[in-house]
Amino acid sequence: MDSIVLNCHKKLLVSFDCAAMWVRDRSALLAALSLDATKNEYLRNAASDSGAVIDYKDWQLPLGRRFRALKLYFVLKSFGAVGLRAHIRNGVRLAQRFEDSIDASSLFEVVAKPKARFALVCFRLLKGGDEANELLRDMLNDAGEIHLIHTRLNLGEGEGVRTVLRLAIGGLEMQDQHINRAFSVVRLAGLRVCDQLGIQF
Ligand SMILES: *Cc1c(COP(=O)(O)O)cnc(C)c1O
Repeated sequence: MDSIVLNCHKKLLVSFDCAAMWVRDRSALLAALSLDATKNEYLRNAASDSGAVIDYKDWQLPLGRRFRALKLYFVLKSFGAVGLRAHIRNGVRLAQRFEDSIDASSLFEVVAKPKARFALVCFRLLKGGDEANELLRDMLNDAGEIHLIHTRLNLGEGEGVRTVLRLAIGGLEMQDQHINRAFSVVRLAGLRVCDQLGIQF
């Protein structure tokens, strides 16, 4: 592997936006993106000329950048690796809890199973197809207590590409009771969808 990029604004408790990137060898980036400072005199300074600092302007298209690292620094300082691990593990555990409820229900099925590991659960109403799942999404989002987005996934033979709903868990204060509540809200809306579309289950 030559590089890793991750969105810290997903699960690492920093607000949008903050992406971290590691590269094994920065020379390819520099060859593609760096400006020749000798032709842009105003960019020159002693620290850069001596090689004492890394000039991140040479790693990207714009020259300027916001100080996104500061908020990440404070999160790392206040939570530490131990605290962040605990936060991530809690999110995965809660996703597993939601997944278990979905699994145990006769209304829904979990799709793309290993997703709970990323604190994300993809699921859908077992019956009623895309129409039912889109209605369920709109019903939940209009009610406003939870917010879900959908995606289209290829569910394989006999199914093809289908609409599924995604429950993402990211908040610091999330606890079991919120997951229980989310499932109960999803289940009740699922029952209403079946009722409305005349789906037998
Ligand atoms: C977050 C996310 C995006 C958007 O990435 P940003 O860097 O936040 O713009 C796109 N696709 C998926 C699956 C994501 O989770």
